[in-house]
Amino acid sequence: MRVLITGGAGFVGSHLSEALLEQNDEVFVLDNLSTGSIDNIVHLKAHPHFHYTIDVVENEPVLAELVDRCDVVVHLAAAVGVKLIVEQPVHTIETNVHGTEVVLKHANKKKKLVLIASTSEVYGKSTDVPFREDQDLVLGPSSKHRWAYACSKLIDEFLALAYWKERNLPVIITRLFNTVGPRQTGQYGMVVPNFVRQALAGKPITVFGDGTQTRSFTYVGDVVRAMVALINEPRAIGQVFNIGNGNEISINGLAERVKALTGSSSEIVHIPYDQAYEAGFEDMPRRVPDISKVRALIGFNPTVELDEILTRVVEHFRQL
Ligand code: UDP
Repeated sequence: MRVLITGGAGFVGSHLSEALLEQNDEVFVLDNLSTGSIDNIVHLKAHPHFHYTIDVVENEPVLAELVDRCDVVVHLAAAVGVKLIVEQPVHTIETNVHGTEVVLKHANKKKKLVLIASTSEVYGKSTDVPFREDQDLVLGPSSKHRWAYACSKLIDEFLALAYWKERNLPVIITRLFNTVGPRQTGQYGMVVPNFVRQALAGKPITVFGDGTQTRSFTYVGDVVRAMVALINEPRAIGQVFNIGNGNEISINGLAERVKALTGSSSEIVHIPYDQAYEAGFEDMPRRVPDISKVRALIGFNPTVELDEILTRVVEHFRQL
């Protein structure tokens, strides 16, 4: 199989590239290195089945050529991270909506399968956990930039499903739940790399809000395994799947675990949301996936649990 990965030099994309190369697929990466990094793929550059192009997905002639050469497109290129979204809402909305638009347009010309990476953020403020793919989505007002991310990803989902319904373009949508692991950077606000870096440096571990909000962290290797299985499963076409790990932890609990695992003497401090993000910032109180749909179709079960994930992330930061 020949797979084009937009955003392939990012955290998830680089792990997906590795997984595909390991099973003898040919990988084409298209990445503009905005949040991705050449460091993530440098170890793959010499591989005979690995090719990369540094460019934006909106460069349509380049994109069209790459789509032509591949059987499948995995569209990961996006503006990610709550911090980036709050600070640069115009960039987020434009990148996420327009990028997906051009990817679907060009894939449609050749009817190439497209897997779209969406996010658990689309469940918004819903407290109806665990989240199922067919439940209602509860977003906050448009005056709060945070929800622009969920909304931009939802437009991507609607557009992809519309291409499937109206134009027969095969698409698969995956909603990722807090994917974590080595190579994720804390630069865009993500909590696990931030806490690990802070703990290793002996600096305060910064919990935003009161820390009772929960997340379910999923190992990146589990996420890419699910993606690979889905693109090989014709019954996945036209459908939306949660990909996550059902084990929930509060952010206070996460801070304690990171502190214990690193043997750090850092103190755990609480920072109000208005200081961490912006005035009136709304967080998601709980985020837990129901993964019965993806489990039933491809037998997916997460295999790496939080302590092991954190151990691998700590190891990664220690080696830098
Ligand atoms: N968070 C935190 N300290 C940090 C970064 C994030 O307490 O340094 C919190 C954040 O407010 C959220 C959770 O950790 O409640 C997960 O944040 P992240 O940005 O990793 O992902 P999100 O689930 O918000 O997309």
